[in-house]
Amino acid sequence: MPDCNETLRELDAFLDDELSDEVRVHIHEHLDGCYDCLQTFEFHAELKIAIRRKCTNDEMPAGLLSKIERCFDTDFDGDGVVGGS
Ligand SMILES: [Zn+2]
Repeated sequence: MPDCNETLRELDAFLDDELSDEVRVHIHEHLDGCYDCLQTFEFHAELKIAIRRKCTNDEMPAGLLSKIERCFDTDFDGDGVVGGS
């Protein structure tokens, strides 16, 4: 079973559906017993959806996505770059 750090490190891959079933199960097990990580995962999942929607609608001000990506150290738009535009 992964600890909090390991779980959060897999957050982005988890949300992008890039994990093996085995890792995914371990993450689910951790989230079942760890409210803090669950909150973080849910927050990121919602943020990711919101950002994807904004990106496709092209409503995001230039540079804002890069700032958000750097803040969360997460590649929200899936271009493989954290802090890229
Ligand atoms: Zn945890």
